[in-house]
Amino acid sequence: MKVLFVANEVAPFAKVGGLADVAGSLPPALAELGVDVSVVMPLHQQVPTDVHGELVLDALEVKAPHETRRASVLEASLGDAGVPVYLIRYGPYFDRPKVYGPGGGDYPDSAQRYAFFARAALALIPALGLDADVIHCHDWPTGLLPAFERLSPHGRPTVYTIHNLGYQGHFELEVAPRIGIDPASKAMRLVACDGCINYMAAGIRSATVLSTVSERYAQEVQTPDFGEGLDGLLRSRAADLYGIINGIDYEQWNPATDPALPDHFAPGAMSGKQVCKAALQREMGLPVDPDVPLVSAVTRLVWQKGLDVLAQVLPRAAKLPIQFVLLGTGEPAVEDSYRLLGRRHPEAMAINIRYDEGLARRIYAGSDIFVMPSRYEPCGLGQMISMAYGTVPVVHATGGLADTVVEASTEPTGFVFHGLAAADLLFALERAVLAFRDRPRWETLVARCMAQDFSWGESARKYADLYETALARHGCRA
Ligand code: ADP
Repeated sequence: MKVLFVANEVAPFAKVGGLADVAGSLPPALAELGVDVSVVMPLHQQVPTDVHGELVLDALEVKAPHETRRASVLEASLGDAGVPVYLIRYGPYFDRPKVYGPGGGDYPDSAQRYAFFARAALALIPALGLDADVIHCHDWPTGLLPAFERLSPHGRPTVYTIHNLGYQGHFELEVAPRIGIDPASKAMRLVACDGCINYMAAGIRSATVLSTVSERYAQEVQTPDFGEGLDGLLRSRAADLYGIINGIDYEQWNPATDPALPDHFAPGAMSGKQVCKAALQREMGLPVDPDVPLVSAVTRLVWQKGLDVLAQVLPRAAKLPIQFVLLGTGEPAVEDSYRLLGRRHPEAMAINIRYDEGLARRIYAGSDIFVMPSRYEPCGLGQMISMAYGTVPVVHATGGLADTVVEASTEPTGFVFHGLAAADLLFALERAVLAFRDRPRWETLVARCMAQDFSWGESARKYADLYETALARHGCRA
C-alpha cells in the first residue's frame, strides 16, 4: 500500500498546532506497520534550513487551467524509518513570516496558495514516480485535492481527515477564476457552499472516506452545535465518516529523556519532577513552593479553547491557593486579557505570550495540573502530553478530551467538568486541588496518568484499515 500524506504543517519542520504533531508522528507509525508512506508539505519560511534536505526536482510544473507555475522540490526525512518528506518550494506563496497569516487570520491570497499546493502535491506523484494508491489529506488547506481527484478520469482514492472544523477556508465566490475553477463547472459544485467557496466542504463532499481525530468528535460534528454549518453535509456522509483518536510519539514526549528539562523522571523515580517544578517556579518568577499546586495551560489563545471562562475563574482559584502558568499566542484580545491577569496577580500568575517549544516542555514537566476548558476539542494533545509528564488534566467533557480523560471511574485519570459555566470549571479545579493535598491519593493519580498509553500503534492500524476501505469504496464510487 503506497500512501501520499498531504499536510500544511508537519513537526518538526513547521508547527502551528496539533496537526503538525499528528502529521509528524503518524507517518513513521504507519511505516512501522509496513505502509509505504511519503509526506508532502509546503516549504514554509519556518522550516529550519538545516532540515531542508536535498533538491530532488528543480522544476515541478504546476498547471492550472489559468496558469502554469514552476516550483522546486526538496526531500528530507522523518523518524528512524526515514519517511520521505517532500517540501514544495515556491517562494511567492510560502516564503512568508507566518504559516497561515498575521494575527491568527489568513493571507489575502490563501485561496490561491492552497489551490496551488493541492495541484503541486498531485503533480509530484508522476514527477517523482510516487505511484500512490491512496492520498491522505488533512484539514482545509488540502480540501481541494480530493475534489480535483474526484473529477479526474484517473483520480485515486482519497482519505480526508478533519482535525478542526472551526477552520474551513472560506473565500468569496469571485475567487473561483483565480484558483482555476470555472464558475459554471462541476468543480464549482464541489467547492461552493452557502454562497462561498469552502475548501473544507470540498474535501468532505469529494473524498472517498472521511475521518476525524476522535470518536466523540465524529459524532459531535454531525450536530448543529458542533457542525459549524457543515453538520448536514457531514450527516449525508455518515456512512463514510470514522473517528480515530490521535496518538502521541512517546520518544518525542518522554520526561525520562527530554533534553529541554532541568531534571528527568519516570514512574517510580519521581524526584526529578519536583526539581522541574522548582525550576519552573524560579523561571516564571513565582514563589518556589512545592506545596502550592501549579496549574498550567499551553495553548493557542483562541475562542475555541474556552480561555475566557478560565480567565473569569482564575482570580478566585488563586485564593485556593494555586499558581498559574500560561504559554500561548493567538487572538490579540485573549492575549491582552491574560497579560492583564498577570499584571494583577504577579505573585500567583506567570503569563508568557509567545511560541516556545522548550518552555512548553518545562511547563508540562513542572506543573501539577494542566487545564483545558475547550468549548470543543477535536482530539487535543495537551491532555495526553501532560499525562505522560505526570501532570493531571482538568478538562471540559468534549471531543477527544471526553474520550481520553475519566473522573467518574474507579481508575480516574483527571478531573472532568460537563458544562462550560465558570462555576463548573472552578469546582473541577477545587476537586483537583483537594486531591493534590492528599499526597498518597495524588501520587496514585499521577502514576495512573503516566501509565496511560496513547501511542500510535492501534490508531495507526485503524488508518491502515481506512486506506483499504478507501481503495474498496473508490471502486464502487467511480
Ligand atoms: P490545537 O491543535 O488545537 O492547537 P492540540 O492540543 O491538539 O491543540 O495541540 C497543541 C500542540 O501545540 C501541543 O503540542 C502544544 O504543546 C503545542 N503548543 C500550543 N501552543 C504552544 C506555544 N505557545 N508554545 C509551544 N507549543 C505550543
